Amino acid sequence: MRGLPEKIVDFHVHLFPDKLFNAIWKYFSTAYGRSILHELHYRECINYLHEKDVEYIVYSNYAHKKGIAKGLNEWNLKILEEYPELYCFAAYHPDDDDAFDMAKDLLDHPRMLGFKLQLLVQRFYPHDERLFPLYEMIIEKGKRLLLHVGTGPIGNSFVGIDNFIKLLERYPDLPANVAHMGGLEYGKFISLLDHFPNICLDTTWAFLPQSGFMFNQKKEVLEIHKDRIIYGSDFPNLIYPREEEIDCLLDFNLSHDFYKKVFRENGIALLGK
Ligand SMILES: [Zn+2]
Repeated sequence: MRGLPEKIVDFHVHLFPDKLFNAIWKYFSTAYGRSILHELHYRECINYLHEKDVEYIVYSNYAHKKGIAKGLNEWNLKILEEYPELYCFAAYHPDDDDAFDMAKDLLDHPRMLGFKLQLLVQRFYPHDERLFPLYEMIIEKGKRLLLHVGTGPIGNSFVGIDNFIKLLERYPDLPANVAHMGGLEYGKFISLLDHFPNICLDTTWAFLPQSGFMFNQKKEVLEIHKDRIIYGSDFPNLIYPREEEIDCLLDFNLSHDFYKKVFRENGIALLGK
């Protein structure tokens, strides 16, 4: 494809056990009034993305309620075993009695990058003190978080820049990827990059002109922050083709360096390769 590195890294893919995927797709069609484009189970997803020149896949899943993280993470370990080119942000729920011990064991796996917190769905604050031991362990072990902490496509009281800043005030060095470029508060999340050295933004859903939630800052800021932006697709839970987002980014006509970094090198660096 024009302008892209030959092999890319997708830092935001979702893989779930088959049954849970079926339930999520059902939810999607109710919530969005339309079906997702790719009802592919995990092996099909992985094959599909490899055929599209995605060399490394970083996937996540999240525990939408208490009591399911353990099962998901057992599944995650199995999938990492099955696919040596896969990396994972594991599931975590602070209401689980064994949450911290489970997290500690998981982080020993070299391809467990850290945890995904989906605050819109999980409904707790990023600065919830129950999470402090988790954050401290992540910092100590050199791992990361993947956070859905923006107000898109809809917000609630748990997400948004003000809550995220409360977290960063306590842990300014926290290594975290913010999904969706921090949308819908794009400008405010971009400006965090100047103050918090370990924050990155992922492109997921932010460059889909039809979505109504399109990135609304000047394209020059993308170039300025090209070391801190990572490509992610949200595959397979898409209602627009993943190519639309890639084309939209290519149509910005940014530097060759931008595409090389965002679609590959920044991701490879975070994988520690
Ligand atoms: Zn996602």
